Amino acid sequence: MGELGAFMKIKRAETPERPPSERVGDHREFVRTLPLVELREQGARCMECGVPFCHGGCPLGNLIPEWNDLVYRDRFREALDQLHRTNNFPEFTGRLCPAPCEAACVLEIDEGNAVTIKQIELAIVDRGWDEGWIAPRPPARRTGKRVAVVGSGPAGLACAQQLNRAGHWVTIFERDEAGGGLLRFGVPDFKIEKRVVERRIGQLRDEGVELRFGVEVDGPLDGFDATVLATGSRVPRDLPVPGRALGGVHFAMEYLYGRNRAVAGTADPAISASGKHVIVVGGGDTGADCVASAHREGAASVTQIELLDEPPATRPDDLTPWPLWPMKLRTSYALKEGGERSFSISTTGLSGNGSVQQIHWTRSSETEESHPAQLVLLAMGFVGPEPELLDALGVGRDARGNCDAPEFRTNVPGVFAAGDARRGQSLIVWAIDEGRRCARAVDAYLS
Ligand SMILES: Cc1cc2nc3c(=O)[nH]c(=O)nc-3n(C[C@H](O)[C@H](O)[C@H](O)COP(=O)(O)OP(=O)(O)OC[C@H]3O[C@@H](n4cnc5c(N)ncnc54)[C@H](O)[C@@H]3O)c2cc1C
Ligand code: SF4
Repeated sequence: MGELGAFMKIKRAETPERPPSERVGDHREFVRTLPLVELREQGARCMECGVPFCHGGCPLGNLIPEWNDLVYRDRFREALDQLHRTNNFPEFTGRLCPAPCEAACVLEIDEGNAVTIKQIELAIVDRGWDEGWIAPRPPARRTGKRVAVVGSGPAGLACAQQLNRAGHWVTIFERDEAGGGLLRFGVPDFKIEKRVVERRIGQLRDEGVELRFGVEVDGPLDGFDATVLATGSRVPRDLPVPGRALGGVHFAMEYLYGRNRAVAGTADPAISASGKHVIVVGGGDTGADCVASAHREGAASVTQIELLDEPPATRPDDLTPWPLWPMKLRTSYALKEGGERSFSISTTGLSGNGSVQQIHWTRSSETEESHPAQLVLLAMGFVGPEPELLDALGVGRDARGNCDAPEFRTNVPGVFAAGDARRGQSLIVWAIDEGRRCARAVDAYLS
């Protein structure tokens, strides 16, 4: 284990970040890692619990105490091997995961003191890439079976890598011009630079996975022994209020796709926040990414509104006690950079002359208010996967409209589903887990 009793004398050190005033001026990643000595001290805080609740908190079942200890002992190479045993893409989760493992860490019983698992994960894998320890691992033999994976988000990529390593020939079909799904076209560069996504895609290609970009699959694919649908949950929740059809009212993903392409230099954005009063409707990750992107564009003001009431500042032990994910107030990285947030806001309408000028809402079901709004971004979540391909294949849906695929098998023989398309809009860590477990189901089917 780490150092005996270290958690009592070494304080948790939060992940270092570039100062908000500096980072809003560019699109580079803002998360940094601790210097090696301090990082190892953080690893020493892990008690290697008899019952490591962090395992239960992590959907991937990451071997967290093992790599905490290896980092403490400065054995990064072995830590990297442990990391890759359960997670194909630790550099995605190390940057972007909300870290349910930390909420479940035994040290978190004393709220705010969990082991800094996420930054240790990131430090291990970034060092692995820097040192050249991460190389393609093509399979030793091929089975001759062919699998099509539709969608190149984290679920599709994880599934493809696992199936390819099991010896099957895998082709990924992706309608966008590049791979990564929401990691590339939803999440902005300042959270994950696209070279990080590209590097893994390069590894898959070098291992023998074929990637076909710019191909929208609209029906059954010939020549494959199995098909995996990893098409995400992409139908956005709308805001059916008067004025919805005005110019300047957009789904968040229209804006974020445009921003990602603009930052990559591949297209001019059709939507701009520059100089405008921006309203972001919805308080989640997508909303935060809109807020931060609008800051970087030089918006006149940015306001994020949330329908729900403000949660308590600390873990509500009567509702979500340790080790559950605490429903408490969090201030996103984006709001640390500026902007305002309001809770208990119910939008009643939008007005303007052709283009939106004002948003109208009721606060706490009582007060009616209006606010200037020249760009309104709807970030209220997603209702399910797009239906066209699923209907063309005859894939059944569950009560929530997601692919009905218990054990990853749909009702159509040889057609499987994984990721947000199966479980609804979720997290990257779940998408990777789904991709890995779906690969096991497909492998069993093919064998
Ligand atoms: C803006 C935003 C920010 C987020 N930030 C975070 C975060 O910080 N941390 C976190 O853990 N999670 C975050 N999430 C959630 C996370 O990104 C998703 O849960 C995850 O990407 C789901 O992975 P997936 O592979 O199932 O689907 P997706 O990433 O949605 O990928 C699906 C892919 O399928 C392709 N596709 C769909 N239909 C077809 C077709 N017919 N033919 C060919 N290709 C097709 C799409 O183009 C897409 O590339 C965020 C989500 C959004 C929207
Ligand atoms: S629960 Fe926390 S302290 Fe215990 S093994 Fe996991 S990371 Fe270490």
